[in-house]
Amino acid sequence: MIVVMAKDSTQEDLNEVRRRIENHPGLQPQVFHGVERIVVGVLGSIPPDLKDEMELLPGVLEVVRISKPYKLASREFHPDNSVVMVGDVAIGGPEPVIMAGPCSVEDEEQMVSTARAVKAAGARILRGGAFKPRTSPYSFRGMGIEGLELLRLAKQETGLPIITEVMAPGDVDTVAQYADILQIGTRNMQNYNLLDEVGRINKPVMVKRGFAASYEEWLLAAEYVMAGGNTQVMLCERGIRAFEHYTRFTLDVAAIPVIQRLSHLPILADPSHSTGKWHLVTPVALAAIAAGAHGLLVEVHPNPDIAKCDGPQSLTFPNFSRLMDQVRAVTAAVRPDRIGVGAP
Ligand code: PEP
Ligand code: MN
Repeated sequence: MIVVMAKDSTQEDLNEVRRRIENHPGLQPQVFHGVERIVVGVLGSIPPDLKDEMELLPGVLEVVRISKPYKLASREFHPDNSVVMVGDVAIGGPEPVIMAGPCSVEDEEQMVSTARAVKAAGARILRGGAFKPRTSPYSFRGMGIEGLELLRLAKQETGLPIITEVMAPGDVDTVAQYADILQIGTRNMQNYNLLDEVGRINKPVMVKRGFAASYEEWLLAAEYVMAGGNTQVMLCERGIRAFEHYTRFTLDVAAIPVIQRLSHLPILADPSHSTGKWHLVTPVALAAIAAGAHGLLVEVHPNPDIAKCDGPQSLTFPNFSRLMDQVRAVTAAVRPDRIGVGAP
């Protein structure tokens, strides 16, 4: 961290800055006298609130952080990509992993038929929400435990591992009994009690980006999970809120290379919630794959017209199968070492 002193700061101001830095065990101030002004370098492990403390001192013009506030999630301290294993599926490796299934679990026939169809098309993970975060309290809010049971059944039928959302800290242990990956939804990205809870378990966690979260806030959410001891974390760009209303949200494609630069964690993309329209899902999915996404989360429904949730953005089985063909083609085109996405 660098503390820039104001031109009219006094020797007393500088002494106070040094004293405050030295108050923190392990921190050392280094004073540089330039022609125009004085700067103080602070070396050591910077406490999160030191910047605020320094900014308030008399004679301080500006404080600039250099190291990242997240450590465990940062590439600085972990140069190699992390790969999260879900059974024999490697997330974060050369092969993009496609997770697909309905927005919400509705009934056995819907779940099992979707699981079979997405598996046949090459998906490696089955998605389905049992606990649904809905904007309106009057919308369908998921089947709860009964939905988890149907996910388990679909897994038994197809062998596909399950990703499903957990919304409440008190539900984490129950959801973890069924799920292979626990999903933290966009609306809960900053639910720190929930992040603490999933940090305690030994199961992979996908942290979706809050729809108004900066990269740093998002990576700090991942840091919460990792600080609890659970390092099996992956991220998912699912669209941020912008001024355009034709699309539901706006997929931030740049998030994919940015996260790969800042972090070693796998980064996936959700072309369904970001666009809100089925005819935009495939082109946006391909953009994410071309940008280097380690995988996709795609909503698929046997009959989107009658889906209880997110029908307009859900792909039919044939459309999902076409998406998979194109994902394979783009993967092969952009990364010759990444060929073959799931089954042919
Ligand atoms: C979902 O994937 O089911 C979901 C609700 O997504 P998000 O939290 O990104 O809106
Ligand atoms: Mn949905």
